[in-house]
Amino acid sequence: MSHRSIRDIDLTGKKVFIRVDFNVPLDENGTEVTSDTRIRAALPTIQLALRKGAAVILASHLGRPKGRPKSTMSLDPIAPLLEKLLGQHVTKTGDCVGDEVNHLVAQMSPGDIVLLENLRFHAAEEANDPDFSAQLASLCDVYVNDAFGSAHRAHSSTEGIARLVHKKAIGLLMEKELEYLTMALSKPERPYIAIVGGAKISGKIDVLDRFLELADKILIGGAMTYTFLHAQGIAIGGSLLEKDKLDVARTIINKAGDKLVLPKDHVITAKLQADANTRVVDGYNEPIPSNMKGVDIGPATVDFYKKTLANARFIIWNGPMGVFEIPEFARGTLAMAHAIAESSGLSIVGGGDSEKAIRTAGVETSITHISTGGGASLEFLAGHRLPGIEVLSKTT
Ligand code: AMP
Repeated sequence: MSHRSIRDIDLTGKKVFIRVDFNVPLDENGTEVTSDTRIRAALPTIQLALRKGAAVILASHLGRPKGRPKSTMSLDPIAPLLEKLLGQHVTKTGDCVGDEVNHLVAQMSPGDIVLLENLRFHAAEEANDPDFSAQLASLCDVYVNDAFGSAHRAHSSTEGIARLVHKKAIGLLMEKELEYLTMALSKPERPYIAIVGGAKISGKIDVLDRFLELADKILIGGAMTYTFLHAQGIAIGGSLLEKDKLDVARTIINKAGDKLVLPKDHVITAKLQADANTRVVDGYNEPIPSNMKGVDIGPATVDFYKKTLANARFIIWNGPMGVFEIPEFARGTLAMAHAIAESSGLSIVGGGDSEKAIRTAGVETSITHISTGGGASLEFLAGHRLPGIEVLSKTT
């Protein structure tokens, strides 16, 4: 499937609606942006549109306001930051549709930027409501989607609007995402190692299936380990278990043979809190006691995974190796971040938690591509359709 890029469209004198991903973390009052990574990531597309002579309308969701205006989820704090980064005035609207927006957009000249208020202040956005989509579409001549993280959702700003605007394209960030994720599905250099962690097998079943076809090894970490171990009759104590996924786990184990690599040892604790006492067990000779749970991969696993990654030519990682939010249980996850960074192969990291680990480890510049969309990248890799991308596929 190919997609027209913003590079290939004439934008001179056009009003361009860019769906960006400004779903940034704010402080608890909603007044300060605590990480501007996503805003910076959107700049190349915005700057290109301006250079090409467009007037730019920016739209995004932020958080989950549940269809109602919520002061702590306003895009207000983003406008001054954008002004600083772009070195020009940004007009922030009080809503994303309605008279004020129509009036301001009607008056825009090339080079102007309008930032709309949070799209999800209207329930119609997530409902992909045709009237709401039409109101958004009426603002622009050209539609550009640069919000990969929302592309797996058929919402008004990602799907409905794109059906109504004739000229449409993907932005530079979206283009980069598709390029790298497509690489993971084609035939990259081998050994191809996938690292899959996180809380649950559910949500990652299809992607695990796909990695069974594509990768040479799948290194497992995180709580999903324990459903796999329990499915083989190994005692997991009080570790997280998805009882309803035991059959799925058995099917994956049987299909995988030695491709699926489970942790050799575990960091266990009785309490999920900082400064809790921890112990390392291998789980086979020394089972996890019933009052304790696995919270990280153990040192022998870290060593083994590091050795496996050292020879890799292509690495893809999604999901933490343990409860990495608590520093005592973050060692395995951070060790993976460093091991991936040290590898001379290509590396793709997806998912908010893995991305956070990469940044905590300070190795972002040593990763080939950090995906901006956790859910969307899993859907893409699993081979599911992404409505926000499908609607932009080239027909002519
Ligand atoms: P996911 O969204 O499925 O990628 O899961 C991410 C979450 O999994 C993180 O919040 C981790 O704290 C959690 N997690 C990872 N390992 C474990 C574990 N062994 N026990 C409980 N939670 C875990």
